[in-house]
Amino acid sequence: MRVGVIGVQGDVSEHVEAVARAMHDAGKAGDAIAVRRREELDRVDALTIPGGESTTISKLLVKLGLFDDIVRRATAEAMPIMGTCAGCILLAKDAGIQADKTKTKLLGLMDMAVDRNAFGRQRESFEADIEVEGLDTPFHSIFIRAPAILRAWGDCTPLARYKDRIVLARQNNLIGAAFHPELSGDLRIHRWFLDLV
Ligand code: GLN
Repeated sequence: MRVGVIGVQGDVSEHVEAVARAMHDAGKAGDAIAVRRREELDRVDALTIPGGESTTISKLLVKLGLFDDIVRRATAEAMPIMGTCAGCILLAKDAGIQADKTKTKLLGLMDMAVDRNAFGRQRESFEADIEVEGLDTPFHSIFIRAPAILRAWGDCTPLARYKDRIVLARQNNLIGAAFHPELSGDLRIHRWFLDLV
């Protein structure tokens, strides 16, 4: 299998490394590549969208002609996508007034509303061990200017909460994480993602 990592901005190399390691650990043959061009997107079986700055990533996806292809492959072909932090924001249908003000075009693939920078300035970055549905021990989670998922509806299922706010959700072939599973060394969420491919 080949997994693409949207490589336009944000923690791209961390994603490439985490995916490659998760594949290796799971005994799956394949590779992870950064995706910046449509030809590259055509060749991947699944995609991760890194953390970074969601407005910037969105604008670059449009500019590079990747935006509509991602939406098409996720819907018509049910291609698995995992978005972390900024990537999670882009997967959402609604990202509130901050997205409207910055004219951030969302991929809008998951039935959820997110709040960008939900944890405020005092808690710009923090780490927490959270309970995740389906995992028998807590997941060490790194939050960096993280969003929270305010609401999930339809087929979107919350899988973890931090202080009553949803921080991990899944909808069929799509996974959104408000935190950064690619940074903590714990690849259990990546394993779920690879199992979708
Ligand atoms: N706060 C960023 C945004 O709104 C996301 C932060 C991150 O991806 N680490 O896009």
